[in-house]
Amino acid sequence: MIIDCHCHAGKGDGLTGPWDTDASLGHYLRWASEYNIERSVVFPAFHSNYAEANREVAGIVKAHSPRLLGFAFVHAERDRGQIFSMINTAVQEYGFCGIKVHRHDARISREICETARAFNIPILYDVVGEVSAVDLLANEYPDVKFIIPHLGSFGDDWRAQIALIDHLVRYPNVFTDTSGVRRFDILQKAVKRAGPAKFLFGSDGPWLHPGVELEKIYALHLPESAQNGVLGGNFLRLIAGRRNKPMSIPAVLSNGYLSPQNAIQSETGDPWLAEGVFQF
Ligand SMILES: [Zn+2]
Repeated sequence: MIIDCHCHAGKGDGLTGPWDTDASLGHYLRWASEYNIERSVVFPAFHSNYAEANREVAGIVKAHSPRLLGFAFVHAERDRGQIFSMINTAVQEYGFCGIKVHRHDARISREICETARAFNIPILYDVVGEVSAVDLLANEYPDVKFIIPHLGSFGDDWRAQIALIDHLVRYPNVFTDTSGVRRFDILQKAVKRAGPAKFLFGSDGPWLHPGVELEKIYALHLPESAQNGVLGGNFLRLIAGRRNKPMSIPAVLSNGYLSPQNAIQSETGDPWLAEGVFQF
């Protein structure tokens, strides 16, 4: 079974670029069908209220059952103190099986990692080129699976992509997806060094064509079993152990360390490019 592990769905409520405006699936679903992509993991576009956006995506997932799987989008700062309850709702009510976090919103938090651990679900964290964070995450949370999309940079930051390869090699709990990776030579080198078990096919639909992205996987000319892993098997292994009921309450919540705080302004700029993030 071919599974696209990275697709957006629903309406954004911004108007700064495609990423927060519209991720309607109309074209995408036709494109995916043409290329025998049987399942797609969907999560919201950028949004000012992820609880609301996740609810919309839950409706889309339900309407297309069983073709779509949901990941819940959370904002590490704005949703601080609420992450556990948001994910609890997403897992138990919506049947979602993972968490999406974007560095453009805010840096990932312990609250998010501990919540993922409680449900044993993977986190797809777009680091926007800030690959050094992966070293911290992998060491601090060896039992949490991290998918670092775009080989670390949607914006073709080759330094970041090369640097991520070392983390893929070093840490059993770090994975990547192939969505939007334009430099095929880097992708090929990464698969060779880290092994195909660390790679998941993803498209970054509905903006990118899943069939075009899928051809990159075939162009790697992997042995059949390795290719099947990249196309879907590796992803299925990441969600296989998920719990419907949390194993425990995240320590950062139970020790009173966290309290909800007012929403902070997200950074301005283009989330699809690496520039800007390095200023922080
Ligand atoms: Zn994306």
